[in-house]
Amino acid sequence: MIQINNHIHTNFSKDGKSPMQKVIAEAKKAGLKIITITDHFPLPQGFTYQAGDSYMAREQLNEYIQLILVEKERNKRIDIRLGAEIDFRPGFEKLIPAQIKDINFDYIIGGVHTIAGWNTKAGWDFDYSKEVWEKGLEKINAKKAYKEYYNQLRQLISSKLFDAVAHLDIIKKFNTDSKYFDENEEDYRKEVMECLDLIEKNGIILEINTSGLFRPCRALFPSEWVLKEALNRKIEITIGSDCHKAGDIVRGFDYAEKVLKKIGYKRLVAFKKRKKEYVVV
Ligand SMILES: [Zn+2]
Ligand SMILES: [Zn+2]
Repeated sequence: MIQINNHIHTNFSKDGKSPMQKVIAEAKKAGLKIITITDHFPLPQGFTYQAGDSYMAREQLNEYIQLILVEKERNKRIDIRLGAEIDFRPGFEKLIPAQIKDINFDYIIGGVHTIAGWNTKAGWDFDYSKEVWEKGLEKINAKKAYKEYYNQLRQLISSKLFDAVAHLDIIKKFNTDSKYFDENEEDYRKEVMECLDLIEKNGIILEINTSGLFRPCRALFPSEWVLKEALNRKIEITIGSDCHKAGDIVRGFDYAEKVLKKIGYKRLVAFKKRKKEYVVV
């Protein structure tokens, strides 16, 4: 049974629905032993989202950290860790270090949710909604979109600021039945493989994110073939449900466990003070 969850949102994220205490109660009920709260970290000053905000306000950051520490003390049957999901755009590699340097994080994941400099001044929040996704594709074709996404993701990986890459292939979120692009096409596979090569080279890990199962693409982030390629490169993995409400805390974990066992992954990574620990699946 999967006993860890390293991608969890609470209502500190603007798109999170449940208070932290409720999320923790559900995690305990589900039998989880280690959880990392990873709310959306504030964007660097002066940056915004095009479609809608998800990150916590800068003024909330202290309260967020303190509440996790308090809950950690209060709950001895579950190991609660301090994490964050940090948005990455080109240039952020220079801004993020100063923002995180005084925080004693256990774990930091990096994700790309916005293609910078496209469509609008704030970029294109390609994963925000189907409407925003389709509007963006009026100006650029899907191949250009995924190429630019993976290009930005490679900059995230090379920044070495993160312990793990969140939802590696989230660019497929609205790609129901390969409507916009085919994951089997040579150009697409090449983009993904280059990311995996860089992940291997930089020694960071990959996240299995089960939220994709409940999005229009109806598949894990990343797809099974990507996980196989990752294992071939001996890339280590962790898991997260990326839940935005307490009831979804282990949504998709049974399915993910079957996939992991089928592919041959035997252990997952958790982080404490940004150092790896291994947990058997
Ligand atoms: Zn994300
Ligand atoms: Zn998330």
